[in-house]
Amino acid sequence: MKKTLLSLALASLVTAALAQQDPIAMKYAKIISPELAKQHLSIIASDEFEGRETGQPGAEKAAQYIAAEFKALGLQPIVKGSYFYDVHVVNALFKMNSFALNGTPLASGTDFNATGAGTKTINAKDIVFIGYGIGANNYDDLKGIDIKGKVVMYISNGEPMKDSVSKITGTKTLSEWSGARSRKRAEYIQSKKPLMLLAVNAGGGGGGRGGRGGGAGGAAAPAGTPPAAGGGGGGRGGAGGAPAGRMGLAAEGEAPAITVTIPAATADMILKASGKTFAELKDAIDKSGTPQSITVKADIAADYTTTETPVKAVDVLGFLPGNDPKLKDEVVVISAHYDHIGLVRTPGAVDKVNNGADDDGSGTTGLLEIARAFTQAQKDGHGQKRSLLFLSNVGEEKGLLGSLYYTNHPVIPLERTITDLNIDMIGRVGFEYIGKPDSSNYVYVIGSGMLSTDLHNAGERANKTYTNLILDYKYDDLNDPNSFYTRSDHYNFAKHGVPIIFYFNGTHADYHKPGDEVSKIGWPMLAKRAQLVYYTAWDLLNAPKKPVVDHPIK
Ligand SMILES: [Zn+2]
Repeated sequence: MKKTLLSLALASLVTAALAQQDPIAMKYAKIISPELAKQHLSIIASDEFEGRETGQPGAEKAAQYIAAEFKALGLQPIVKGSYFYDVHVVNALFKMNSFALNGTPLASGTDFNATGAGTKTINAKDIVFIGYGIGANNYDDLKGIDIKGKVVMYISNGEPMKDSVSKITGTKTLSEWSGARSRKRAEYIQSKKPLMLLAVNAGGGGGGRGGRGGGAGGAAAPAGTPPAAGGGGGGRGGAGGAPAGRMGLAAEGEAPAITVTIPAATADMILKASGKTFAELKDAIDKSGTPQSITVKADIAADYTTTETPVKAVDVLGFLPGNDPKLKDEVVVISAHYDHIGLVRTPGAVDKVNNGADDDGSGTTGLLEIARAFTQAQKDGHGQKRSLLFLSNVGEEKGLLGSLYYTNHPVIPLERTITDLNIDMIGRVGFEYIGKPDSSNYVYVIGSGMLSTDLHNAGERANKTYTNLILDYKYDDLNDPNSFYTRSDHYNFAKHGVPIIFYFNGTHADYHKPGDEVSKIGWPMLAKRAQLVYYTAWDLLNAPKKPVVDHPIK
């Protein structure tokens, strides 16, 4: 008897620990189905949509399709009566007209490469060497130094290392400042409002690619360390008759400082008056583990211009108001980007369309299905307490532009936006799960606890109660070399302190290739992952309290 009683007591304890299933939530989850997913995605990722490149007719078709769905479902158009939110995208053509050092003109492409935005003439009499340009807690190149309005030179890759041990981490593992795709360093320097950046790659890899979007000033050019651009000075040639230049948001106010990438030899010329070479300064930092920032006399003369050509681009917004008199002022955003990378440019290509079925036709499909579930619940008298915004973003592939613009100009104030659940690629099996027994029952979850433990717990709870997927947190790491946390639209919400969860299946051989086709999508898998997002949203929309931000951004 005793034993039985104990077992019973244990059993009830276990039950109590699991959240109760809500039969109403489950009823509407069933609307999110493999069949419906296939219907949507077979249209969105068809060849007719030509890979949905921002500014091209295929993206326009996708936007129209999504808006028509929103309308049919009864979502409210909240942009002055429209579902379309104009995103001020431009093709910006940046040109360095002249760049001279101590009176000697330097040649673009060999002596330097410049990227950026804005139009300006610069005549500076000195530069500030700021080492690695890193501002960690235990190592800060800018401590006590004012670089506002100054030309600064910095080491654009790596971090202070002695005997292969990082000064910042104290281990052989590099910090988040050194990730090949990390924008942290450039953003930190830009936040101090310098006049111009002279970036010197110290070699040894890790220089990495330019950051995407997120320029400190929200202007056309990213603030990241620039890739070595073609001799012309940063602009990429347009394809298919599009104007040459780089796609970005139209400049608002002052553009951030431009970045001029120079080799060590050019750096040495600039540093000449200091009596030290670039390599010597870098060595001194590495050996001592302390910043060696100095001001050096040098004449820097630069003149650059940017011409902007507008590109038609819209986010598609659908709103479902909550029914609680107080809580309805708070909003949960569910986002996914509908744009992709467009047509194949290679002459003679057999498959001419990058369909973007997984990226991010799958997320767009998930978003539409979740919208159907919530609108049906509301029609049946089971409306949610908080409000829900479906945000279908444009320009993600061009640098998270749709979400960058939205979060800089939110239609609903971000103070009332309690969470963004972002879906980007949920229809396929990523590299690491191919051939594994769990291949159809996992999803990578990124960022859930970065700002809010409550949000992380809500995501876990929804999964444990309903979907039982393997939630893989492998990429939930600021030091992850792939930097997935910064690579989709949720990042722009997180930058503003809005807690986010990013759902992702990982990359695969067809990532950003014509092979990302509808035929390769796993429909039950897509639906199940979308159901997880739905259940998590259901919890957040109806919980008595919103998730507390207990790890605010610095
Ligand atoms: Zn994507």
